[in-house]
Amino acid sequence: MDFSFTHADEEFRMQVRHFFETEYPQDLIAKIARGHSPTKADYQRSERALDSKGWVAVNWPKEAGGTGWTSNQKYIFDEELERAGALNVVPMGLLYVGPVIYTFGTEAQKAQWLPGILNSTTFWAQGYSEPGSGSDLASLQSRAEPDGDDYIVNGTKIWTSLAQHADWIFCLLRTDSSGKKQEGITFLCIDMKTPGITVRPIITIDGKHSLNAVDFVDVRVPKANRIGEEGKGWTYANYLLGHERTSYAHVAGKRKQLRNIRKTAAKTTTDGGSLLQDPAFARKLSELEARLDALELTVLRVLASVADGGAPGEESSILKVIATELAQDITELGVEAFGPYAQPAFPDSVVPEGSDNFAIPAAAAPSVAQYLGARAQSIYGGSNEIQKNIIAKRILAL
Ligand SMILES: Cc1cc2nc3c(=O)[nH]c(=O)nc-3n(C[C@H](O)[C@H](O)[C@H](O)COP(=O)(O)OP(=O)(O)OC[C@H]3O[C@@H](n4cnc5c(N)ncnc54)[C@H](O)[C@@H]3O)c2cc1C
Repeated sequence: MDFSFTHADEEFRMQVRHFFETEYPQDLIAKIARGHSPTKADYQRSERALDSKGWVAVNWPKEAGGTGWTSNQKYIFDEELERAGALNVVPMGLLYVGPVIYTFGTEAQKAQWLPGILNSTTFWAQGYSEPGSGSDLASLQSRAEPDGDDYIVNGTKIWTSLAQHADWIFCLLRTDSSGKKQEGITFLCIDMKTPGITVRPIITIDGKHSLNAVDFVDVRVPKANRIGEEGKGWTYANYLLGHERTSYAHVAGKRKQLRNIRKTAAKTTTDGGSLLQDPAFARKLSELEARLDALELTVLRVLASVADGGAPGEESSILKVIATELAQDITELGVEAFGPYAQPAFPDSVVPEGSDNFAIPAAAAPSVAQYLGARAQSIYGGSNEIQKNIIAKRILAL
């Protein structure tokens, strides 16, 4: 397999780089670099800037409103976005439910939901996990009972990212308990303004409000909002999770973090010279750089395998494990490199937004929050233990 970039790819890279340096909102880049949490309006401004070039739905086929780019172009675009320090798109609409809608939805559903995802007027949340059902997702208990042309939904979803901003939520709900637990699950899209829905915030260890619990009490949802067949939601859910797990690599973002660590370590003096000359530190840094090179090749391999619009296979589980473990190890070394500068754990409180007056190196400000936030990466999208079970069963046939 040839992973080299062509002359045309490199020209494309320059075009994308120019966009991020000149047309993309530079104040957003500065805000994210300081570790501040993006607001809903920030996400919208970022996505609209991308959409103005037709670049927001990178992975969608052209006929659905996407770019129709080659796998190399997609990879280059992601690299340049992260190199610039721009905001990643909110994944729930563009990366998760969008592909489910254009693959399994009716024409009416595509017309209803895809334009709002593309122009960032509609935000989505993912309602899979429940208080008693995370890894064993198929044991979920929230119910959708048929009632004429509607379903009546009752139950609680939890760990629902960005539900506080969501206009719609896609949920897995039980419509039948009589057979195998995977068989009675239905995929429903629910308008968050429907009476009976309450969003409760959950603040995480990194000081951020991203997670929520969402309660549904007698929520009336039209059957027209069901994706595909009743009881077949598990199939659509798994299709979506393959896409989700492939989206965790963030190679260029990791490269930037490692560059910052190298730069900081070169300037940090210890008893024996710079931190970079400390053999134990230098070895850890080199190992992480080598693991990142390996991750990059794995990403290119997975991208090549889905180049024709196919769904990622079990290799997305490998990608998820190596990318998230690497994120955790890089952020840990970041805290080590920044030393005492890393202490302020919550950049929102120590570096006022809009201030250029840093008492600490800018890259150090978010480092503890990034370290703490990265702990969650081996949990969400299906925990790494579960991914290892998938690799053992479906790839190694153990
Ligand atoms: C930051 C964050 C964002 C999230 N966002 C969303 C979201 O937007 N929407 C959504 O629906 N969910 C979301 N989740 C939920 C996430 O998908 C679940 O947390 C995850 O699937 C694990 O489920 P659980 O928390 O119930 O843990 P459990 O399933 O209770 O697992 C607890 C521990 O046991 C291990 N374990 C469980 N079963 C096995 C097994 N069979 N073999 C080996 N080990 C096992 C797990 O690996 C884990 O270490 C998010 C979670 C986090 C942390």
